[in-house]
Amino acid sequence: MALLPDSLRHVISLLAKLPGVGEKTAQRYALFLIAQGGELCSALGSELSALPSNIQPCTVCKGIAEVDADGEAICDICRDPKRDPKLICIVARVQDMIAVERSGAMRGRYIVLGKLLSPLDGIGPAQLPIDTLIARITEESIREVIVATPPSVDGEATALFLARELEPLSVTVSRIASGVPHGGDLEFADQITLGRALDGRRDFGR
Ligand SMILES: [Zn+2]
Repeated sequence: MALLPDSLRHVISLLAKLPGVGEKTAQRYALFLIAQGGELCSALGSELSALPSNIQPCTVCKGIAEVDADGEAICDICRDPKRDPKLICIVARVQDMIAVERSGAMRGRYIVLGKLLSPLDGIGPAQLPIDTLIARITEESIREVIVATPPSVDGEATALFLARELEPLSVTVSRIASGVPHGGDLEFADQITLGRALDGRRDFGR
């Protein structure tokens, strides 16, 4: 005899796939949802199932965007006319973009790499969107690129690689200053620290 019905156990096993959610927390969430009655379950279910078609990577920066009536997905930051169009911040993940944005120190736009160089995981230069990056810098006459990859081994290697690749272009490439602890995650750096790290950015090799 199973302690919990199959359908409930299935929901628990799905919830347990979420980051930071273990079996016990998943069970607590599932029992909470049942206790709330059908409304929350239905709302959550329909919103979640529509999410992949409603939300797509932004076609410009690869951040997240709502798909509009024309089927286009361009995020609010890329659409914002008050942003400095000649300044781009390169981040590894959408979470990092949100963290930099919260610091309030970034007035330009972004490019989300989606990954970092990581020889151990088989991620080499060919896997990085370097051609897209160079095309955007050239076409939009970008003045400055701030590399805000995390201060980890992979993040630093990626930053150096980008600096080398972008060197022939007439663009200033800078790296966020230390202040974010080595091996730390931008996502968990506080807003003031991250803001200072952006303000104190340095040119590569100078
Ligand atoms: Zn965008």
